[in-house]
Amino acid sequence: MQIFDGLVRFIRDTYGTKDLIPLHAPAFRGHEKAYVLECIDSTYVSSVGPFVDRFERDIAAYTGAPCAVATVNGTAALHVALVVAGVEQGDLVITQALTFVATCNAIAYCGAEPVFLDVDRHTLGLSPTAVEQWLESAAQLDADGVCRHKDDGRTVRACLPMHTFGHPVDLAGLVDVCKRWNLALVEDAAESLGSLYQGRHTGTFGRLGALSFNGNKVLTTGGGGMLLADEKLGARAKHLTTTAKRPHAYEFIHDEVAYNYRLPNINAALGCAQLEQIETFVQAKRQLAARYADHLSTTELQFVQEPPGCRSNYWLNAVICADRAQRDALLQATNDAGVSTRPIWQLMSRLPAFRHCVHGELLHSEWLESRVVNLPSSVISASLED
Ligand SMILES: *Cc1c(COP(=O)(O)O)cnc(C)c1O
Repeated sequence: MQIFDGLVRFIRDTYGTKDLIPLHAPAFRGHEKAYVLECIDSTYVSSVGPFVDRFERDIAAYTGAPCAVATVNGTAALHVALVVAGVEQGDLVITQALTFVATCNAIAYCGAEPVFLDVDRHTLGLSPTAVEQWLESAAQLDADGVCRHKDDGRTVRACLPMHTFGHPVDLAGLVDVCKRWNLALVEDAAESLGSLYQGRHTGTFGRLGALSFNGNKVLTTGGGGMLLADEKLGARAKHLTTTAKRPHAYEFIHDEVAYNYRLPNINAALGCAQLEQIETFVQAKRQLAARYADHLSTTELQFVQEPPGCRSNYWLNAVICADRAQRDALLQATNDAGVSTRPIWQLMSRLPAFRHCVHGELLHSEWLESRVVNLPSSVISASLED
């Protein structure tokens, strides 16, 4: 498809390679090897060791969260965040239809069900207006302070927005609506480490937040996640992610059914080294985004920019095509040319596991679903030198 030749050439020039260009590859250019080797030499590669404590401290310091709890992956962090936020069997949790499936799986692990609402076009994330309108029409705040679905009396317990591709959602609007309807706000910040909303880190606005360090994220531990919370909820989360074992010199005392969700020390070692470079990565990704924006300004494709008042980490760069036909042509032309691009996710309300769930009007979600394509977004090695 000739009209995308210019874009393919631009991406090849940008990455300076004739090889396959992945959507997102990690960069290991700091102390990764040194820390992982130190970890192996110490023999503490598994569930105890100093790198886990250090990684938790460093993430808390970087994000400004009072407490951080490391987990085996981001989905586990989300699951326990919801449990700690009070989500129970039979509850409803409001989330966006346009997200990665892990958001909804975490809700399902609690025995709860998602309510799929629309996103805003300028954030790609949950719309506070859509939440307000749905609550006004379908829910009631009872005298006991519990928000309930009018149809069947199920408790609407929490609200779980996601910061799509690293772009912060309208947090001010969501904090406000959650407060008025007594909903626990939990942020799926899996994609947005390093993104700021009005100068503050995403993941620290809700009662709890969850990060992911999967291989394709801004920062990776191989696999891993982190839960952000205040001291009290953080302590509860730590207990639940470590088999509910009470501290004791030798006895096995587990005071409830809990999870083995702790991050191994060897993964945390990788994380400590990666975290030392987070600001370099974010700056490099923002430079790349600026280059895309500049190049795309002369094309039909609309580059997705960070929302006003925010600093996005631009985890994945994205464009909005004119229509589905153009989207398909772009995906075909770029992938045929060895430049990896991907469509945005199918709406969660279409998946077999979640088709039966309650949803609102999804006009913006559907519009974006048929038009958004992600472009290669790895940090360019040249931008990390010197
Ligand atoms: C990556 C991701 C997660 C968590 O993923 P894990 O692979 O379990 O670490 C959760 N939600 C979203 C939106 C994600 O992109």
